[in-house]
Amino acid sequence: MTQTSRYAVFGHPISHSKSPRIHQLFAEQFGIALSYGTIDAAPDAFADAVRRFFHDDGGHAANVTLPHKAAAFALADERSQAAVRAGSANVLTRLDDGRLAAHNTDGAGLVRDLTERHGVDLRDRDMLLLGAGGAARGVAWSFLDAGVASLTIVNRTAATADALADAIGEPARVRTRYWEDLGGIGSFDLIVNATSAGVLQQSLGLPMALVGARAVCYDMAYGTAAIPFLSWAEAAGAYRAYDGLGMLVETAADAFELWHGRRPETEPVYRALR
Ligand code: NDP
Repeated sequence: MTQTSRYAVFGHPISHSKSPRIHQLFAEQFGIALSYGTIDAAPDAFADAVRRFFHDDGGHAANVTLPHKAAAFALADERSQAAVRAGSANVLTRLDDGRLAAHNTDGAGLVRDLTERHGVDLRDRDMLLLGAGGAARGVAWSFLDAGVASLTIVNRTAATADALADAIGEPARVRTRYWEDLGGIGSFDLIVNATSAGVLQQSLGLPMALVGARAVCYDMAYGTAAIPFLSWAEAAGAYRAYDGLGMLVETAADAFELWHGRRPETEPVYRALR
């Protein structure tokens, strides 16, 4: 009897997760039989849950989402460069010798969604990154690698934005500003919302003057959580405004390829989820 490989996504809460469906749809493209479940673990139970999944239950690999990405990074035995830069991991893979490898696909997934799905040229853009939490850290370097001209990081807690800018260490291209000063820092042609305000149903109170001519606005959140930011962007005259559903599918595709050695088609899955 062939054994079905076991995969899962860890989070808290996790019942809403689209990851099981995305991975099943990818697996169907190749006729791969997949067991992909959700594992709800509170923060203090995360390490034990990971150990059980990989060592007792024969788990092969897992995705990790809020609030465990930093903990996943910390407990891994090996870390990719993308995970080290972000200081967090959304992918854990069991190596042949039983050790765990951490990786972060957020940055690559978001940049691919913008450039390949939506056809946005990121080069020479003046970018505003709202937020400096795990998601912002996961994507900041990828935008610099993709050629943005400047990156301005603004976070409600200023010290966290400064820490991210310091970690990047490119003062000529990367600067921070205070949230309170958002009304007077000019306009941008790429604005990425990496705050969790939408998910928390809180208002960002963003000034419309931030949105420059032909600006592309992107909310890493998706579904109803993205509506306030996308509505603001449209009201402010953004050229294009996108939510983070495509990013979710692209980051999952990177994990799928890492685990199965095959690149799934993302467009049909993206359309199915829409
Ligand atoms: P974190 O909890 O690590 O960070 C939250 C960030 O949001 C912090 O910068 C925080 O600021 C800021 N924030 C929260 N509430 C407010 C508010 N009312 N006003 C201003 N700033 C606020 O979360 P993550 O970084 O992991 O996730 C952020 C978002 O990105 C979530 O919506 C998540 O769903 C989404 N995401 C989407 C992915 C996708 O594939 N589409 C992948 C990963 C994340 P402060 O530091 O001051 O607290």
